[in-house]
Amino acid sequence: MDWKKELAEAYRTPDELVSQKNVKFTVSEKLFFKETEQNNLSFSVPGYYLSLVENNTNDPVRRQCIPSSEEFSVKPWELDDPLGEEKYKISERLVHRYRDRVLLLVTDTCAMYCRHCFRRNFTGGRRGIISAQEIKTTAEYVSEHREVVEVILSGGDPLTLETSVLDRILSALKEAREDIVIRIGTRIPVVLPSRIDAELTDTLRRYSPLFVMTQFNHKNEITGRSSAACSMLIDAGIPVFNQAVLLKGINDTAADLEELFHTLIRLRIKPYYLFQGDLAPGTSHFRVSLKKGLALMKELKESLSGLSLPVYAVDLPGGGGKIPLNGDYVGPLTEKGWELKDAGGNIFYYPEE
Ligand code: SF4
Repeated sequence: MDWKKELAEAYRTPDELVSQKNVKFTVSEKLFFKETEQNNLSFSVPGYYLSLVENNTNDPVRRQCIPSSEEFSVKPWELDDPLGEEKYKISERLVHRYRDRVLLLVTDTCAMYCRHCFRRNFTGGRRGIISAQEIKTTAEYVSEHREVVEVILSGGDPLTLETSVLDRILSALKEAREDIVIRIGTRIPVVLPSRIDAELTDTLRRYSPLFVMTQFNHKNEITGRSSAACSMLIDAGIPVFNQAVLLKGINDTAADLEELFHTLIRLRIKPYYLFQGDLAPGTSHFRVSLKKGLALMKELKESLSGLSLPVYAVDLPGGGGKIPLNGDYVGPLTEKGWELKDAGGNIFYYPEE
């Protein structure tokens, strides 16, 4: 399977979905596509991922890839910059939020635009691929800032880049700092597993320690092909971790999550984080209440081993950083919302929707 052809042939319009795949839309989905020329929201779904959709409008795979008009419903507490990264930007693509690590947005392209994405204001924009000059200035920054231990490649999806481009980015970072640790955040193993080929794994393995953080949200996304893609990475010495997002109507039962985490660990993929939804505009229909999330984790702690259990976490709205949602950080539910503390004891509020 040629991944570039598969990516080029991804479905990008409702007409293609209807004429080639006979997809029947709900009223809400039709409304999204009708309005789509007036909004900036991106849409793309590779044929492979679409093939996992069952003929059911509430299907957990379908809801992650087919948009609906609910995305136009923006709540007053939702934020264009939900993680508050703007103030930590060193450049358009480099964010230095935590002392020991930086985030590098290498592309704005994704193979599939997840409907719950919190980077929806960056993805599918006009920023394109990181330039040679931007790679150079990032490498210089990392070289000068010895406190930086890790570089996290994100976007967009870094694995939509050609392997030669990834190689250029990784070699520049390693030349600048031999001791740097690389993380790649990607949904490619889930949505376009053919992209994980021998050329890619041979390249990535040269930049060890390098970790792949993927995002399986439902057991129906774990197939022979996605499992084989992850096995290729792991067999090449590239550890794979999973960062799931807690999504309403998709994985918000203890049974669904337990099955997901058990299956992942059998595939040697460590369930790392379970994220509470960020306050990204037009994503409230995916957010599970924090109250329910805490109750789910209580149940899961009783049934899962430490190996299979991820950390339930949230990015504090407005730039407070990531915190685990446990008794050390979660205060009472007040009129303003849940009182959450960052590591320094500063208070932030997260709505109970
Ligand atoms: S792959 Fe990642 S960045 Fe791209 S749409 Fe999905 S969640 Fe967002």
